[in-house]
Amino acid sequence: MNLSIFKKTSLLTAILLLVFSSLVFAASNPGGPSTNGQTNISSTLSYADVVKILGDIKHSSKGKVEVFTLDKYGKSEAGRSIYVAKVGDGSKKIWIQAQIHGNEKLTTEAALDLLKTYASSNNREVQKVLGEATLYFIPMYNPDGAEMNTRGTKIMSTGQLLDLNRDWTLDGFAGKESLVVYKYWAELKPDFAIDLHHQGLKQVYGTNEATSFSLGISLAPDGPTLPSYKNYNDVTRQMLAYVYDNMKGYGYTHIDRYQIVDAAKQIGYDIDIKGGVVSAMMMGLNYNGLNPKHHSHPAVFFETKGNTSEGSLGQKSNGYLTKQNYLALKSLVYGYVTGEIYEVDPNHWNDIPAYPLAGYWTDYNGIVPVGASGY
Ligand SMILES: [Zn+2]
Repeated sequence: MNLSIFKKTSLLTAILLLVFSSLVFAASNPGGPSTNGQTNISSTLSYADVVKILGDIKHSSKGKVEVFTLDKYGKSEAGRSIYVAKVGDGSKKIWIQAQIHGNEKLTTEAALDLLKTYASSNNREVQKVLGEATLYFIPMYNPDGAEMNTRGTKIMSTGQLLDLNRDWTLDGFAGKESLVVYKYWAELKPDFAIDLHHQGLKQVYGTNEATSFSLGISLAPDGPTLPSYKNYNDVTRQMLAYVYDNMKGYGYTHIDRYQIVDAAKQIGYDIDIKGGVVSAMMMGLNYNGLNPKHHSHPAVFFETKGNTSEGSLGQKSNGYLTKQNYLALKSLVYGYVTGEIYEVDPNHWNDIPAYPLAGYWTDYNGIVPVGASGY
């Protein structure tokens, strides 16, 4: 590669890193909610609130919901317990994790709302789910970040903030939370996982509508990595196309595909991030011999609009955004349990609005062009 191309690539990377910062998303989106100042987080759930709510749900469920900590594997960097709630009697194990990023608050509320539904509803669809599946909720993966209202956790020995969602790699596990949750995952061996996030502000391609919800796969479909892992390239697309259709039925129309967007150029990059937790789940990561048979399963993620550390989350819209997340989760669990997701054409994924694909945004080789092989 000659020097001028190298310089151009570095410049592109620098520009994209800027674009990836949500502040730039916000600044480039004058139609979105105000981003002045920080959202008052007193209206969102604290760690203590979550522990209390879990106890209340367990109590009122009359034995249907179990709540426990992962203390036998360790605690967070600051010494907080990581909680799990378990509900259902079926053989399919579904993993739902929220707030691995501590400033992504409403994901925890959506997960707890769904847990409440499973704990208390006698609805036929709910009973079907609980008969066929057992659900494992981790409503607050990153309690330290949640309390600090930061994306990462703080490593106690260095004081540095660490993104726990880049830490499931062979040379990772720098944060205590990562190993706690990984050990549990490797022992439990789930069949399917959903990971809940918030994103900065963006617009649905070709419209003036602010995206309210994005559907994502952390190893891009048809990208450099996923097609070589079992049939996850199809099933993950089927799952998200299924959710997309269901959400349209509920009247949620500002849904698109998760991408890193260059708003000025109106192009998007699909992510292909191997260190992401749900990516490592799909790749069957075997860290320290803890997953010797390379257990793996499909996994997808949802991104709700806005986050609290940028102040781009309005209290007025919190209920709407939580409900949207709740409905999407509930519908995907149902579609998975009943097998309805397998009736969807995987290529229907392409009907979810997205920016023209400019390449794959990776955590191992910068921007990988579409169609490139050998990665
Ligand atoms: Zn996130």
